[in-house]
Amino acid sequence: MSSTAVTGIGELVTCDGTGPDLLGIHSNAALVVEDGLIAWIGSTAAAPAADSRIDVGGRAIIPGFVDSHSHLVFAGDRSTEFAARMTGQPYDGGGIGVTVAATRAATDDELTRLLGLRIDELRALGTATVEIKSGYGLTVSDEVRALRIARRFTTETTFLGAHVIPAEYDGDRAGYVDLVTGPMLQAAAPYARWIDVFCEPHSPHAFDAEEARSVLAAGAEAGLGLRVHANQLGPGPGVRLAVELGAASVDHCTYLGDADVDALAAAAETTVATLLPGVEFCTRSPYPDAARLVDAGVSLALATDCNPGTCYSSSMPWVISLAVRELGLTPAQALLAATAGSAKSLRRTDIGRLVLGNRADLTVLDAPSYLHLAYRPGVPIARVLNDDGFTRQRASARP
Ligand SMILES: [Zn+2]
Repeated sequence: MSSTAVTGIGELVTCDGTGPDLLGIHSNAALVVEDGLIAWIGSTAAAPAADSRIDVGGRAIIPGFVDSHSHLVFAGDRSTEFAARMTGQPYDGGGIGVTVAATRAATDDELTRLLGLRIDELRALGTATVEIKSGYGLTVSDEVRALRIARRFTTETTFLGAHVIPAEYDGDRAGYVDLVTGPMLQAAAPYARWIDVFCEPHSPHAFDAEEARSVLAAGAEAGLGLRVHANQLGPGPGVRLAVELGAASVDHCTYLGDADVDALAAAAETTVATLLPGVEFCTRSPYPDAARLVDAGVSLALATDCNPGTCYSSSMPWVISLAVRELGLTPAQALLAATAGSAKSLRRTDIGRLVLGNRADLTVLDAPSYLHLAYRPGVPIARVLNDDGFTRQRASARP
């Protein structure tokens, strides 16, 4: 067993649910990490001896961000689509086909290399845990390949065969749903913890309520937890379907009616509403009203939705600044949603909060306070504190 004392923490934000704003803040703090877990928290003056010591010089430390929604396994480039959208072309989900073609054409080594670079990037921005979806393969072998590669980097893998109807199934939606709920699911399930579906009647490429219900029911039957993309492009049935089926997370939640908000509030212990304001920023779309959800008692998470079409950013600090500036969250609410909230959306209690026994996923800020996350948008002040034996999730792929 090896131990490391981290001392000189000007502001330790534990997000443990206690104290003002539920942030559990300790000043002039220290903590001890043993075998990657938090073994002691107290003042720097009282810090016990340890095998090694890291002094962070008065900086703030927060829980490593939990990015609970990403699409990081892909090849190709869609920067020209972004540029076109900025000149006024609306987004309807069709550009995903471009990424599907490029991803199918890439080798395993190339997909692994690209994913590794993206993982390095998000860790350099303070993210310690990331969920990764498939969904750019859309054949049995390509979906399995994406999940197999993603599993080398995270345990939080999500089967998203029901991302869009691929071009070769134009005119045969039922045939594709049969594939996703049958042979594709059976092949993908051993590599996935979750199943997800893009439930969006406003996109001709996505899935309607009954198709989404079939996908989620089959996933549950195969032992997978449920996540849903819902109510992104307009009002729809996805949020209430997610709540009805006990999904852990329903993501986007941009267009919500009162019945949706009521359903989410009633299901706050089970279903987390995950907001992805980077998408609204990058697609120049209206933002969800997060303050309305907080007032109603809805459980909230924040994530990047990092993907090549609608938000190619892996920056959780930027998402926090958007949530404060555009969604109506306080800086404290935004930080909680990006850590403990997103951990809850993954049904994880060992991450997202710095409490005894939890993983020592520490993100250090080049700042005296967590407030700087929203106060200094676009400035790279957050990074995962990386030390051998200290964080168990590595930047490079496991063998
Ligand atoms: Zn997404």
